[in-house]
Amino acid sequence: ITPIRTQSASSTELEDLDRRHLIHPLQAAAISDRLVIVRGKGCAVWDADGNELLDATGGGLWHSHVGHGRRELAEAAAKQIEQLEYFTSYQEFTNDKAIELAVRLSGLAPADLNKVFFTSGGSESVETAIKAARLYHARRGQPDRTWIISRLYGYHGANYGSGTLTGFEPMHLSVGPNLPHVEKVSPPYLYRAAELYGDQDPTDFLINELEQTIERLGPGNVAAMIGEPVMGGGGVLTPPADYWPRVREVLNKHGILLIADEVITAFGRTGAWFDSAQRDMDPDIITTAKGITSGYFSFGAVLLRDGIGDAITEDYGFFHGYTFSGHPVGAAVALANLDIMEREDLPANALSIGDWFRAGLAPLADVPTVGDVRVEGAAAAIEMVADRQTREPMAFPDVFGLTAQIRAKHGVITRPYAHNIILSPPLTMNEDEVRRASAAIVDVLTQTAANG
Ligand code: PLP
Repeated sequence: ITPIRTQSASSTELEDLDRRHLIHPLQAAAISDRLVIVRGKGCAVWDADGNELLDATGGGLWHSHVGHGRRELAEAAAKQIEQLEYFTSYQEFTNDKAIELAVRLSGLAPADLNKVFFTSGGSESVETAIKAARLYHARRGQPDRTWIISRLYGYHGANYGSGTLTGFEPMHLSVGPNLPHVEKVSPPYLYRAAELYGDQDPTDFLINELEQTIERLGPGNVAAMIGEPVMGGGGVLTPPADYWPRVREVLNKHGILLIADEVITAFGRTGAWFDSAQRDMDPDIITTAKGITSGYFSFGAVLLRDGIGDAITEDYGFFHGYTFSGHPVGAAVALANLDIMEREDLPANALSIGDWFRAGLAPLADVPTVGDVRVEGAAAAIEMVADRQTREPMAFPDVFGLTAQIRAKHGVITRPYAHNIILSPPLTMNEDEVRRASAAIVDVLTQTAANG
């Protein structure tokens, strides 16, 4: 194998080498194309052939809140690397940037979530939350509380713990056994209310199901329920307004903790620093990652109620952590990233992006392959169906093909996930860019539906 210098390789060479040597997340046999991205600025990225693409996905995975190529973040990282690239946060050690960020996050979080544990990403944050919830109960003399309730179509990560909580079947196939003591309940999915809940009120159905599930598991055996305030990967599913308050009430009755997985929603994507706060969720633990650094450093944070943080550090303590927990470069980048978001009021712009998408995507109401369009701030899902009457989901390869066409014809990057086309642009996206992205989507979906 001959080493190469990528600067002098052609895009075709890079693609061939990629096929030979790289395994991608979610790689599948049907995906033969490769697209080598080499540069980004604002809401644009460029491929290895110099083609400019409009990024309606926030770097692909809902994470680029401040957009690409921000010099301020590069400088924050460089400055910190020069001063101290890294030293552990294990046991008594700490660093000034991790402390500053923990204080800043405590200030943004709901009132009594003042304890912060740092990770390198969302799956680690969820892993940490599961352990913290179980350990909290054990420290309080209830070691049988081990069950975690999550929801079908919830996405919580890819590790064995977080992956088991994830409600997408392919995550679990042929890699078992998965984490024991995980139970799934139904999601709040209003477009599919008739098939999921019959003629019952959605929240009544879901609360009843939750109560029955807790009863079956034994209320004294359940540690926590985890849920995204608005489900992201499931297709931007916003629950009815009474859903989270009523879930919280049930969990309170049984002493069960509530974990808000805000890996997508935290830091402004839906218009608030923490989406759980605007849904009366009142969580005990919040998991974050992605937008905390806008992807400029692999980083995450778990916020815990004071009482939980105190309990898990008692006795022999919290025997959990990662080499890069509390990484000073990640913390420095996160602080600079939060500065930008506050200065440019990006949570407010996320709400405008939502309004612009609603207007731009309105013509999809007449496209027979579009079942539903859901917009929540700077997150949107276009639910594709094979049949509008039966609401049968469109097959994934077809959805994948549509996003490929949108990119090929209009240079706009959107993301296929299950049977949804997901939009999650940088929170910096302006009205003209949202209009361009919307027009590209409307054009391709209209044309392909018309061509049968
Ligand atoms: N939780 C939620 C809600 C997510 O959307 C994701 C990733 O998309 C994760 C957790 C896992 O995060 P990561 O991929 O950084 O491990």
